[in-house]
Amino acid sequence: MSLKIHNTLSRSKEPFVPLKDNEVLMYTCGPTVYNFIHIGNARTFVMSDVIRRYLEYSGYRVKYVMNITDIDDRIIAEANKKGLEFAEVNQLYTEAFFEDIAGMGIKMPDAVPRVTEHVDEIINMIQTLILKGFAYESEGSVYYDVSKFKGYGKLSGKKTEDLISGSRVDVDERKKNPLDFVLWKASKPGEPEWDSLWGKGRPGWHIECSAMCLHHLGDRVDIHCGGADLVFPHHENEIAQSEAATGQPFAKYWVHFGFLNVDNEKMSKSLGNFWLARDVLKRFRPEVIRIFFMQKHYASPLNYSEENLRDVETAHKRLEATFNRLVQVLDLKESLGGSLGTDTILPELEKLSSDLDRWQAEFNEAMNDDFNTAAALSKVFELFGSLGKIVSIKKLNDFSVYVLKRAHDQILEWNEILGFLNLSKPEGISKKYEQIMGVLLDLRSELRKRKEWALSDQIRDGLLAIGISIEDTPEGTTWKIK
Ligand code: AMP
Ligand code: ZN
Repeated sequence: MSLKIHNTLSRSKEPFVPLKDNEVLMYTCGPTVYNFIHIGNARTFVMSDVIRRYLEYSGYRVKYVMNITDIDDRIIAEANKKGLEFAEVNQLYTEAFFEDIAGMGIKMPDAVPRVTEHVDEIINMIQTLILKGFAYESEGSVYYDVSKFKGYGKLSGKKTEDLISGSRVDVDERKKNPLDFVLWKASKPGEPEWDSLWGKGRPGWHIECSAMCLHHLGDRVDIHCGGADLVFPHHENEIAQSEAATGQPFAKYWVHFGFLNVDNEKMSKSLGNFWLARDVLKRFRPEVIRIFFMQKHYASPLNYSEENLRDVETAHKRLEATFNRLVQVLDLKESLGGSLGTDTILPELEKLSSDLDRWQAEFNEAMNDDFNTAAALSKVFELFGSLGKIVSIKKLNDFSVYVLKRAHDQILEWNEILGFLNLSKPEGISKKYEQIMGVLLDLRSELRKRKEWALSDQIRDGLLAIGISIEDTPEGTTWKIK
């Protein structure tokens, strides 16, 4: 089965056919940097990451862009509350965002554009919309004229008549129509501002994403993602802006992620029912959190539950132990350079060999079915269930090792998509190694300054005894493993 994606625009699962050959242009609405991201935001970013990785694994050349909204009312409010400059708040939470997505095992997007670096493109796009008759200026602000865009409501399924009758709250003298939304906001005292054709001001939220998406990916994109809260008005408005400006259909597939809920209510900063991603990461490994997310289809709501996270943690420990044992068995075979024992082909290994082909097909089928990570993960667990028994068998022959090697490679391949194991341990250990050596050499140099020769030599000789030689040079002390 080839890939199918549920498209919010058509409200159906559609075969995935990219706009151009095997290239995929993908955009996800990123964070507004007025605070640290919470674990609900992280669900959206992790699931986007899994989609991107699966497309890459499937042979597509993916260009993946995620924006950073760093001009927003909430950032200004946060700066005022903390007594910080607007730019300081942006810097703080943008850096934190990068730390958090790396901490979650999310691969860096190909571009992470910031609004503050794209004000010119935004102004140009607004100007195009005015020239084409889709926007108007009013008292230094610019509004999008919703009545001019025929397809308004096509993504969310909302009808403009219903929206108008339901929009009692939004009375604004400067707008022609209550549904019109702001593209450029005239500046208010004390707020960050940029020069424009309409006076000083700053961009509205919706135009930021349209302008950055078009600038980095072109007039048309294949997949546009975001949380389900963004369908209306954000994505509806993005379509209105982008299609009016370019005269072309904007995103081919719209993908929306279900909310991470707390007691069936959306986790959100405004409700105060949130856990910061960085705090959850202090208690649970990123692989555990990723499995917790992936056990549910991306579009379904998921309840945040520490109890479920702990259950995943227990299961994950078993995965890790089995994988480590598998690596040991394969390493042992390598170092012996030959067979480990009996020539009898074990029935368990024969079964594993045929199961591997079936699981791989079922895994792909699951992922091709609108990225069904829950079904794909169940294949991972089935494989580990079989391996758990086999890796404790003491005698393995060449055929067994061949099958285990295939299982090992299959795990690496799946891990590249889902990220359920941390395989970067050796690097982690070597970094620690360097840090420990740094501490020891600093201590030795302090001892030498104090002419405590006996103690400083004790460090040097002790290290030599475990195979690490050190050398004092005019630039400082270096070390190497002999
Ligand atoms: P924000 O910083 O609020 O603009 O959100 C950044 C991204 O996280 C957007 O794509 C949101 O749709 C998404 N998001 C916000 N809250 C949740 C939640 N509780 N569950 C899943 N995604 C969310
Ligand atoms: Zn957006």
